[in-house]
Amino acid sequence: MATRKVGSAGRFGVRYGKTIRQRIVDVEKKQRKLQKCPYCHRLMVKRISLGIWECKKCDSKFTNRAYFVE
Ligand SMILES: [Zn+2]
Repeated sequence: MATRKVGSAGRFGVRYGKTIRQRIVDVEKKQRKLQKCPYCHRLMVKRISLGIWECKKCDSKFTNRAYFVE
């Protein structure tokens, strides 16, 4: 059975299991959008690197979740 309905996580192949790949898809969907700044609440936050984020609006740099901002 070669049906792939997991989108961007299809590249990981079958060996990680479906649930884990579904989680990766969820994370990557969030990651691709601009994130919301916890200080000025605008969608202007870009990911600098793992867990480090920067808001283009109020210039704050902060740490948060590795792949998206809570
Ligand atoms: Zn901000």
